[in-house]
Amino acid sequence: MSRPTVGVLALQGDSLEHAELLRSIGAEVVEVRRPAELDGVGAIVIPGGESTTLSLLLGSSGLFEPLRARLEEGMPALGTCAGMILLAREILDGRPDQLSFGVIDLSVRRNAFGRQLDSFEADLDLAGAAGPPMHAVFIRAPVVERAGPEVEVLASVERAGRSKPVVCRQGEVIVAAFHPELSGDPRLHQMLLERVQARRG
Ligand code: GLN
Repeated sequence: MSRPTVGVLALQGDSLEHAELLRSIGAEVVEVRRPAELDGVGAIVIPGGESTTLSLLLGSSGLFEPLRARLEEGMPALGTCAGMILLAREILDGRPDQLSFGVIDLSVRRNAFGRQLDSFEADLDLAGAAGPPMHAVFIRAPVVERAGPEVEVLASVERAGRSKPVVCRQGEVIVAAFHPELSGDPRLHQMLLERVQARRG
């Protein structure tokens, strides 16, 4: 079977690290900056960065509507940090005009782990994954305030005595509040490639 082709949204943020990680596990990568670049991709990664800026750039590049259409048709997606915010149904503490694709039933609050915890690292147990805990780097990460009934929580962290979901999945959409591309753990990207293969049958 030919290699899966994965788009990495490359408008802003750390798209290069995602591209490298995807190539290291056998994917063909297309950096997506314009609508036509979506045509040949079987999945999309939306990286971390700044979700308000990404929202503006998605509008000005003309990518927002065609990408939303592909996501609504069921194209597999992985969103990390700002990417998680962009895929969520509801954004709390966003800009009033901030766009999101609304394809995973989460309410996420931006920058909500608290100022003294702007950045932190944690080791996570990832449900269903073999191997050691997943090392996770959080940078001004969003917090999941609500997860709908169809959302599967695959990993959580304990913060201030409460458990917060940090890896979630609904159908073809996988999101992480942290930056898996920085620790180089490929397991979430592998999950995405498995979804692409499964859809190709
Ligand atoms: N705080 C950023 C936002 O609201 C996300 C940070 C990140 O992607 N590392 O978009």
